Amino acid sequence: MAVNIKRISILGSTGSIGCNSLKVIENLKKKEYPIKVVSLTTNKNIDLLAKQIAEHSPNTVVIQDLNAYKKFVSDYYFPELEILQGESGLADIAGRNNYDLLLSALVGFSGLIPTINALKLGKNVALANKETLVIAGKLINDVSAKNNAVIYPIDSEHSAIFQCLLGESADSVSRLIITASGGPFRNKSLIEMKNASVEDALNHPNWSMGKKITIDSATMMNKGLEIIEAHWLFNLNADQLDVIIHPQSIIHSMVEFRDNSVKAQLGIPDMRIPIQFAITYPERIESEFCKMDFGKFNNLTFEEPDLKKFRCLKLAFDALNSGGTYPAVLNAANEIAVELFLNEKVNFLSISEIIEEQLNKHNNNLDFELDDVIEIDRSVKSELKKKYSLD
Ligand code: MG
Repeated sequence: MAVNIKRISILGSTGSIGCNSLKVIENLKKKEYPIKVVSLTTNKNIDLLAKQIAEHSPNTVVIQDLNAYKKFVSDYYFPELEILQGESGLADIAGRNNYDLLLSALVGFSGLIPTINALKLGKNVALANKETLVIAGKLINDVSAKNNAVIYPIDSEHSAIFQCLLGESADSVSRLIITASGGPFRNKSLIEMKNASVEDALNHPNWSMGKKITIDSATMMNKGLEIIEAHWLFNLNADQLDVIIHPQSIIHSMVEFRDNSVKAQLGIPDMRIPIQFAITYPERIESEFCKMDFGKFNNLTFEEPDLKKFRCLKLAFDALNSGGTYPAVLNAANEIAVELFLNEKVNFLSISEIIEEQLNKHNNNLDFELDDVIEIDRSVKSELKKKYSLD
């Protein structure tokens, strides 16, 4: 019997999700699941990329950063490997017909164009890059519907909801209950948050992730972006999307149905589980990842989020309710505000203030095209970089 090999291209393979994706692929190979890595990419972590090339033999790699690209070309030699550079390289490999699934683990706006290019070709996308749906969810849904392409969520909350919805009809859903850990500042005062160091904010209680998403978790903007992501993935209104703080991160999210029955998806916080399901759906393949031991997690608690403390979450709900280009402004301002905080140019509470100021002066465009959100992203970011002397 002929076996169909699933060919996968991984954008952002040296980041946290990318590395976990390659661990999933190693697990799948051990379980004789037929899979081939076609492309890998990095921003500038060329030493890790070289290790990944030796282990997974991709046909093509992309190195975004120009200096890192030059160093890679001079320091390493892999015969027959195609090496591309820059964001155009990402757009190029996503727009090729040599793979079956694009796994996008890029951070921020950089994931938008590659995802659109993949969907245009009718390629399915395993999406960890939530910002893409925040910026242009409507355009993404239009292009995937037009080309019969499917987005499989990797984000643990959205994977949980996706799994709870299997076998259910869309009109039976009353609301989604998206869980949040509350991050490192859940029990801190506003004054403590204002004085928080970069190190404090990067100290996430449950998940080990990249810097951008870890700061987003500390401000709870991550949950705000996830609310917008859920709106586009599952076609529900803002008033059907609830956030509940669940500090143990064992329940990854829940769906309430119109008969008030609630389904939850649980597991230890390990991104390899949702990543593997996004790759192998609808199959479930045996894994060597940690099993849930309920004896060790006998205290699952829940509390309402404090929107005064976590102003970013409120701003995200407002942006979703206003619609149009507000979410693109929210995202662009957030990306720069996080960078400013990481560079110790602003304090932790300034992140939400910077975003709110940009939202307040934005003239909304309800009927936008791709070029409009590209321009908004560029102009908001360049204004903020100039104002705070970043770069
Ligand atoms: Mg998440």
